[in-house]
Amino acid sequence: MENKQEVETLYERWVEDDSVKLEPKGFYKSIDGYLEDQEKEICGKCVPCRDGVPRIKEIMQHLSKGEADEAELKELEALVLNLRAARCAIGVGIGRNLEVVLANNYNLLVHGKEAK
Ligand code: SF4
Repeated sequence: MENKQEVETLYERWVEDDSVKLEPKGFYKSIDGYLEDQEKEICGKCVPCRDGVPRIKEIMQHLSKGEADEAELKELEALVLNLRAARCAIGVGIGRNLEVVLANNYNLLVHGKEAK
């Protein structure tokens, strides 16, 4: 399974196993690839998705380089939760998958840099 597909199916797998998480190796690369794919589908009609997803991607990139501060981590959490209010399944789906990351891979987000 390609890593970005692992992110894409996180929520689906979480329904069956609420401890499902991404492997530390390639963690940020998987998320970045997933978000890059999803961005192509964004139509721009609602704010949580149109503005939120690019910003989520940017913060994830900062985290991967160890350049994000606590404020950005908090912003990330808010942006992911805001996707519950997205207007269609694309935004809602991104949010659901990333909520699983927040819940079960939070330690990797806090530690920042890509695990080797
Ligand atoms: S959630 Fe759906 S409606 Fe909203 S910007 Fe994304 S693709 Fe468009």
